[in-house]
Amino acid sequence: MKLPEERALTVIKHRIVVVGGGFGGIQTVHGLKGSSADITLIDRRNHHLFQPLLYQVATTLLATSEIAWPIRRLYRDRKDVTTILDEVVGVDTEAKLVRLQSGRAIPYDTLVLATGARHAYFGRDEWEKLAPGLKTLEDATTLRRRILLAFERAELSEKTADRDALLTFAIIGAGPTGVEMAGTIAELAQKVLPPEFRSIDTTATKVILIEAGPRVLAAFSEDLSAYAKSALEKLGVEVRTGKPVTAITEEGVTVGETFVPCRTVIWAAGVQASPVAQWIRAEADRAGRTIVGPDLSAAHDPNIFVIGDTASVKQDDGKPVPGIAPAAKQQGAYVAKVIKARLAAKPAPAPFRYFHQGSLATIGKRAAVIDFGRIKLKGGLAWWIWGLAHIYFLIGTRSRLAVAWSWLWIYLSGQHSARLITQKETLKDEA
Ligand SMILES: Cc1cc2nc3c(=O)[nH]c(=O)nc-3n(C[C@H](O)[C@H](O)[C@H](O)COP(=O)(O)OP(=O)(O)OC[C@H]3O[C@@H](n4cnc5c(N)ncnc54)[C@H](O)[C@@H]3O)c2cc1C
Repeated sequence: MKLPEERALTVIKHRIVVVGGGFGGIQTVHGLKGSSADITLIDRRNHHLFQPLLYQVATTLLATSEIAWPIRRLYRDRKDVTTILDEVVGVDTEAKLVRLQSGRAIPYDTLVLATGARHAYFGRDEWEKLAPGLKTLEDATTLRRRILLAFERAELSEKTADRDALLTFAIIGAGPTGVEMAGTIAELAQKVLPPEFRSIDTTATKVILIEAGPRVLAAFSEDLSAYAKSALEKLGVEVRTGKPVTAITEEGVTVGETFVPCRTVIWAAGVQASPVAQWIRAEADRAGRTIVGPDLSAAHDPNIFVIGDTASVKQDDGKPVPGIAPAAKQQGAYVAKVIKARLAAKPAPAPFRYFHQGSLATIGKRAAVIDFGRIKLKGGLAWWIWGLAHIYFLIGTRSRLAVAWSWLWIYLSGQHSARLITQKETLKDEA
C-alpha cells in the first residue's frame, strides 16, 4: 500500500484521445511518441486503410489485406497507446467525454478528431443503393462483386438488350478515383476476361465516365487532363463531360436528358464530412467540415483539434486545403507538435501551413499523370513514379513486397488475381 506522500507524488498523465485511425489519426499518434501522455485511439474499424489503392480491390487487382493493417498491430510496441474498436456517437465537451456506441464514455484532456468523410449524393440519398461509392473495404468488395456478377449474368442472359445493359458500366465523377476505376474496368473487359467467357464478347463492354464539369481530373492542369481523356478513350472508355446525372434507376442512368441503360453504376463524385461539427457544436462549411483555427483547434475549445478530411482549413491563398492523404498526414504531424509543445510548456509552433507535394492519377496499368506544379509528367514514366510513390507510402515491408509483386505479376502476365465474388455469392441473391 502507498504512503500518503507517495500517493501525492503519483503523476496523473495527460489523456489524449484520438478518434479515427486513418491517415490523420495515425500520423498524430506517430508524432506523439515520447510525449509522456496516455493516448487512446478509437476507430469503428479494426484496420487502417490505404484508400488511394481501394479502387484496385474493387477492380480485382489487389486483395484486401494488401492495403489494410490492423490498428492494434501498429501499436503493439507503444505501451502509451490503447486501441479501442468502437464507434464514436458524440462528444460531451463540458464533461470532456467521448461517447461510444457501446455506451462507454472515454475521458480526455485533449481530443483529436480525425474521422474523415464519406461520399455525398447531393441530396439524392436514394441513389446510394443504386450507385455505391468507394470508401471502405466493404465498399470495395461490394463493387468487385457487382462488377464480376455483371459479366457472369451477361454470360447467362438470353436477351440482347439485357446483355448490353449488363455489359455497360457507368462511373459518375471523373476525379482520380473515377478515372482509375474506369480505366481498370475497361482493361479488365478488354484484356483479361475475353478468353474466359463463352457466350459473351467482353470486349463489347461499354465503360462510360460521366462528369458534370467540363473536363476529367479538374484538379490537374488542362494538358494533363486532355492527355488523361485521350488515354482513357484509347482503353475504350467513353468520356461524357459537361452534363450532370439527373436520374439513376435499376435500369440505368440519365445524363442530362439522355437515358443510358446499364446495370452497374459507380459513384465517385462528392464527399460529406463526418458529423464532428455537430458533436462539438462548431461551425461547418458547406461540405460539413468543421472550421478550425490556425493551429487546427476548434474555435471555441483549444483542447479539441479537428484534422484531415473532416476539417476545413484555408491556405494562404484562401483556397481550402484539399481532402487528400498528404494533407491529413501533415495536419496529424502538426497537431502532435502543438500538443507536445503545450505539455512541455514550450511556445506553440507557427500556424499550420499545407505543403502540396503534387497530384497523381493512373489510367490503366501503363499510363499516369503527375502534376508537381512546375514539373508535369504523363505516360509510362509517370506510371512507374506513381507505382513507386504508392509502394513507398504503404506500411511495412510485407505490404510493400506483396503489392510490388502483385503489380509486377499483373504487368507481365496481364492477369488480375483478386477476382473473387464474396459476400452474397449467388446470381439469384444479387438479382
Ligand atoms: C477511393 C479513394 C481514393 C483516394 N485516392 C487518393 C489518392 O490517390 N491520393 C490522396 O492523397 N488521397 C486520396 N484519397 C483521399 C484520402 O484517402 C483522404 O484524404 C484521407 O484518407 C483523409 O484522411 P483522414 O484521416 O482525414 O480520414 P480517413 O483516412 O478516412 O480516416 C478516418 C477514420 O475514422 C474512422 N471513423 C469515422 N467515423 C468514426 C466514428 N464515428 N467513430 C470511430 N471511428 C470513426 C474511420 O473508420 C477511419 O478509419 C482517396 C480517398 C478515397 C475514398
